[in-house]
Amino acid sequence: MADLSPAKYKPYNRSSITRSPQWERIPQDLREAVEVVAHVLPFRTNQYVLDELINWDKIPDDPIFRLNFPHRTMLEPDDYTALRDLIRSGDKQQLAKQIFEVRTRMNPHPAGQLSHNVPELDGQVVPGIQHKYDQTVLFFPSAGQTCHAYCTFCFRWPQFVGEEDLHFAARDAEGLAAYLRRHPEVTDVLITGGDPMIMRTGALERYLEPLLAPDLAHIQNIRIGTKAVGYWPQRFVSDVDADDLLRLFERIVGAGKHLALMAHYNHPAELRPAIAQQALRRITGTGAVVRMQSPVLRHINDDPAAWQELWTLGVKLGAVPYYMFVERDTGARSYFELPLAEAYDIFRTAYSSVSGLSRTVRGPSMSAFPGKVLIDGTPTIRGEKVFALQFLQARQDGVVRRPFYAKFDPAATWFDQLVPAFGERSFFFEEEPAGDRPGTGRPLDLVGV
Ligand SMILES: *Cc1c(COP(=O)(O)O)cnc(C)c1O
Ligand code: SF4
Repeated sequence: MADLSPAKYKPYNRSSITRSPQWERIPQDLREAVEVVAHVLPFRTNQYVLDELINWDKIPDDPIFRLNFPHRTMLEPDDYTALRDLIRSGDKQQLAKQIFEVRTRMNPHPAGQLSHNVPELDGQVVPGIQHKYDQTVLFFPSAGQTCHAYCTFCFRWPQFVGEEDLHFAARDAEGLAAYLRRHPEVTDVLITGGDPMIMRTGALERYLEPLLAPDLAHIQNIRIGTKAVGYWPQRFVSDVDADDLLRLFERIVGAGKHLALMAHYNHPAELRPAIAQQALRRITGTGAVVRMQSPVLRHINDDPAAWQELWTLGVKLGAVPYYMFVERDTGARSYFELPLAEAYDIFRTAYSSVSGLSRTVRGPSMSAFPGKVLIDGTPTIRGEKVFALQFLQARQDGVVRRPFYAKFDPAATWFDQLVPAFGERSFFFEEEPAGDRPGTGRPLDLVGV
């Protein structure tokens, strides 16, 4: 059983990590990488992760170590060397310039997040809201835009690095309620971050209680995206306001809403500690549902056995496997990405080995500009090997679940690298043929960004 003393929750950043009890166990070359890479990609971890989730006898290959600590190859070799030399030289101005350049090259806003999904109310932009699919509104409470530990693959990473113009967060909950009152087609609100569970229960209440009002009866489902179940299960068990939080969940369920915690679990190690299991049981005890989702990532969970254990243990504890995502085209992408064909094989092998109760999971799915695209197989049709694809979610009406096909490409890692199969000029959902775009790679995901 984990020690529940407050010292256990201690967070670490790039500077303070050198004072953690485990720092001594990290070899010199890895320490240098932590320092250099964490100048570009935000770094944060906590004592619970260090004590309970990382197996220090297995570093650097331990998956939770890989997931929490920055590594040299997350940057291009030239960038790494340039940054390291600038840090050593003490030239702060030049260093800041270099950091900005490297970040800008890392596609900080994939899938048109800033330009395409920001809604308006009476001609005013509503801060903190994204509305991409009709039924679902994403809300980014300003107080929940940080996380218990940062994953360097996270597409939210620009929010953590303190560049104001890259932020988008709400000033208050009133904008959300006002927007929802005017949008009766919306049934789902997804509160996301960062990690909204970083907020104290009182702050969360101020965002959630207004959604229970009679004039928002069309809001049927409230989801909260969180990593706390894995990285800070004390939030639901032993924090001073853990019990208040569970009472809040009960009130939401009691008001007739479906409450789902969209739990971000990357690896079964996060579910093994007794306190993590206790957290899950306490949450489901309120009537809330826990749904599990994660990208498939090289070095972390590119092994069907990891998914099999995650889903099986999750289901046993009352959680519902939901999505396996493809690592997005942002951040330290080259470090974590896998060919789509490999992601599909991992999914299929893991899926085949679990109970039907775990087969609620869908994937591998790419959150691309036009929508969520599922890789459904790699069949050979009329003598041509292809990717069978379909939309699980789409901006465009009438395209969901219609099978379509892309040319098989064993090296492709993202949707924008795929071209139509069978010599066709465009995919069925594209309005204009792509004939006038040069080359074969069609940058669908970058349109308009
Ligand atoms: C995934 C996602 C949702 C939720 O989709 P579901 O399939 O309902 O889980 C909503 N908005 C955006 C932008 C998403 O990427
Ligand atoms: S837990 Fe989720 S939101 Fe937090 S850093 Fe990781 S991927 Fe991003």
